[in-house]
Amino acid sequence: VTARPFVVNVAELLRRPATQKTVHLSGRSEPGQVVDTAVSAGALLEADLVLESLSDGIVVSGQVTTAWDGICRRCLEPVGGVVTASVRELYRPQEVDDEAFAFTGDQLDLEPMVREAVLLELPLAPLCRPDCAGLCPQCGANRNEHDCGHTVDTTDVRWAALGDLLEQARLDHPEN
Ligand SMILES: [Zn+2]
Ligand SMILES: [Zn+2]
Repeated sequence: VTARPFVVNVAELLRRPATQKTVHLSGRSEPGQVVDTAVSAGALLEADLVLESLSDGIVVSGQVTTAWDGICRRCLEPVGGVVTASVRELYRPQEVDDEAFAFTGDQLDLEPMVREAVLLELPLAPLCRPDCAGLCPQCGANRNEHDCGHTVDTTDVRWAALGDLLEQARLDHPEN
């Protein structure tokens, strides 16, 4: 593990436009957070990328993966997973274009781009499982773990009421 695992030497690519270099880079994640979801502390951040030289820059494309931690938005239990982001960015020499993705000399530092890519893909409202039953609105019990006996399902109540209204409308206007 080198000190700057996401720095790639691109001297060879810059000398020969229209050539490619494939790299697999990995380093430890630094915590980064979006609302209640965060990149797991110390998780491995991995990038499988292809660098392709153009006459005026280098296109970097591929996939970036890391682990994340969060809280289920329904039951508030800890939840985690793996996030994969697709990336495609054009890097240009600093002296030509001083945007975010620029490089100086023959060192390309992909770390800011790699970190930003996974942060953008973090789930904003994760669920511990697709059918998580959540917390009981009456007593706060975790309904995945035990049945507190309260049967409150406002969705069903509302749909039932709508069904009654439609039925009434049909009776009021039998020609429809
Ligand atoms: Zn849950
Ligand atoms: Zn309850």
